[in-house]
Amino acid sequence: MTPPPSTRHYWLPIPDSSQCSGTRHAFRGPRWEGEHTGTTVCGQEVAMAKPSEMDWICHPTCPSCYDTLKLEQR
Ligand SMILES: [Zn+2]
Repeated sequence: MTPPPSTRHYWLPIPDSSQCSGTRHAFRGPRWEGEHTGTTVCGQEVAMAKPSEMDWICHPTCPSCYDTLKLEQR
């Protein structure tokens, strides 16, 4: 059984230039494969890097990504 496309996404904290500031965006695909850039579910082209523990704690979830995925999963 392959899961439907709408469930195939993952979250990754994307830091801003300043420390402990950024947003956790959702991306299409099963997981992050080490790409340097990616397109978020909310349509932004962002630089990707391995997140630290602090990134997961500090960065709030992107509301646009969340809403988009929520609508798709109805
Ligand atoms: Zn987003």
